[in-house]
Amino acid sequence: MSYFLTLHPSSLNLRFYLSVSCFTTLTNLFPTTSSQNQLNITKQTQKHLISLIKSCSKKTHFLQIHAHIILTSLIQDPTISLHLLSRISFSPFRETRYSRQIFDQIPNPNVSHFNTIIRAYSISNSPEQAFYLFKNMRKKCVPTSPLTCSFAIKSCIRFCSLIGGVQIHSRILRDGYQSDSLLMTTLMDFYSNRGKSVQACRVFDEISQRDTVAWNVLISCYIRNQRTRDALCLFDNMNSEENECKPDDVTCLLVLHACAQLGALEFGEKVHSFIEEHGYGDAKNVCNSLIAMYSRCGSLDKAYWVFKGIREKNVVSWSAMIHGFAINGHGREAIEAFEEMQRRSVLPDDQTFTGVLLACSHCGFVDEGMMFLDRMSKEFNILPNIHHYGCIVDLLGRAGLLDQAYQVIMSMEVKPDSTIWRTLLGACRIHGHVNLGERVVGQLIELKAQEAGDYVLLLNIYSSVGNWEKVKELRCFMKEKGIQTTPGCSTIELKGVVHDFVVDDVSHPRKDEIYEMLDEINKQLKIAGYVSEITSELHNLAAEEKGYALSYHSEKLAIAFGVLVTPPGTAIRVAKNLRICVDCHNFAKVLSGVYNREVIIRDRTRFHHFREGHCSCNDYW
Ligand code: ZN
Ligand code: ZN
Repeated sequence: MSYFLTLHPSSLNLRFYLSVSCFTTLTNLFPTTSSQNQLNITKQTQKHLISLIKSCSKKTHFLQIHAHIILTSLIQDPTISLHLLSRISFSPFRETRYSRQIFDQIPNPNVSHFNTIIRAYSISNSPEQAFYLFKNMRKKCVPTSPLTCSFAIKSCIRFCSLIGGVQIHSRILRDGYQSDSLLMTTLMDFYSNRGKSVQACRVFDEISQRDTVAWNVLISCYIRNQRTRDALCLFDNMNSEENECKPDDVTCLLVLHACAQLGALEFGEKVHSFIEEHGYGDAKNVCNSLIAMYSRCGSLDKAYWVFKGIREKNVVSWSAMIHGFAINGHGREAIEAFEEMQRRSVLPDDQTFTGVLLACSHCGFVDEGMMFLDRMSKEFNILPNIHHYGCIVDLLGRAGLLDQAYQVIMSMEVKPDSTIWRTLLGACRIHGHVNLGERVVGQLIELKAQEAGDYVLLLNIYSSVGNWEKVKELRCFMKEKGIQTTPGCSTIELKGVVHDFVVDDVSHPRKDEIYEMLDEINKQLKIAGYVSEITSELHNLAAEEKGYALSYHSEKLAIAFGVLVTPPGTAIRVAKNLRICVDCHNFAKVLSGVYNREVIIRDRTRFHHFREGHCSCNDYW
């Protein structure tokens, strides 16, 4: 989020083009003979020279000015040398090495000289030099300023030095710069970049006059460091009556992103009303984020409503809508939107095609998917990237064309990554394809990207074909290597509060009621023919070890809580960090019919809209 903090020095504007004739006057104005070794310069000539430096737009001209300044010893004039340094450091013909050369020629560089060269290095390819110069200032007893610290911190962000930033932080405290909110915000940005949200938060607490930028940096810090729920709380704090600086459009964008991640629809709606109230709704990027938020929260109608309201839809708006249709299982609508976009002469980009191919894969349109893959490069000159191929592999995998999917991976122009192999592994699980599954896990191991989840998928493949010998073998291997699976976690949002559950969770304040409700639901579902599938998937595998058959996966707890606290007929929306298992999928399917409730579960890869005993994924995920 460093873009918040970019400074724009007005001194660097090009004012007029310096013609060669100006250089003739230059030599006339400052004859080298008159001022050798002694500095004798009037305000008038200083002003004139500075104006020449500022307006210089060619390196050849600059070199001449520089030579002249050296010859006349005018480099000793701090104002002139500063302008010279600044011009070469931030001009279109800038060159950090040349800046350094000039800096080294300045007899006694002051804080402004240091600030200029440190800033130049902080945005160069060798940001570490900025930090060394910062340390050098201390040695030379040149006092720093908040600006110096700010540039030095930015360099530490660039060269990823936690220690460097911490050192600067202690200097800030010693020099008493805590009241400089811009500097403190840069420091927060630094901690956030290094994944230190606690420290970032501490710095935030120290800022006496917090502006919106500081709040936004903290919010983005939380989102980056998986403290998404805290990010939502910050929005509330910011919007509270006691707080003077209110959320702006950037805050809204950040928080919408957080809502999309969490699947927090109610909160997203609250942000939407805030946007309407404050007139941010005219900004296209805000609308596009609203579309993304609503579709990722499974509220496609609202996403479409926002989309319809955009007067001039750009490629991002169209792509967001197509993506929304795709992930919610409305493949036909996604393709129609793509065609409509063409009729309106909006050129698609790679994101648009990700959406279109996703739509094809989620709905099993094999021929269309292959056709779009072909069209994107031939007709629109867009080379398919790994995400596009990922959709194709998913699509072929869904259709059971596993060998073809494998061929696609092997023939891609891009190097296959772990995600694409994992997609194929998922397909192997669905179709019980043991040989290919083993080969894919081999590829993941070769990439050193194997995760516990991959072994779990392989276990599921073995168990689906009843190869218990292999199951046992693999489980021993996992135990030996200490491979632990990621704990599943489900979230459900109610009245703007996000509740989360893990397997067999007993931490919720209403746990007794939740478990009672779950028993009741199980009874009802059993009558309707639901059989807990303890023979498949993880339920069976873990059963021997810890009585897992009696376990309740997190999504079941979240659903039970939803049934408990919402009026009949209300849709239940749950977000889960892992792929939903067969048993929970059946559970939600039957429940949607028996309780006449729409259940929307967003798992790691897609949405499941359960309605009247069916799921939008058609039981493929
Ligand atoms: Zn489950
Ligand atoms: Zn489903």
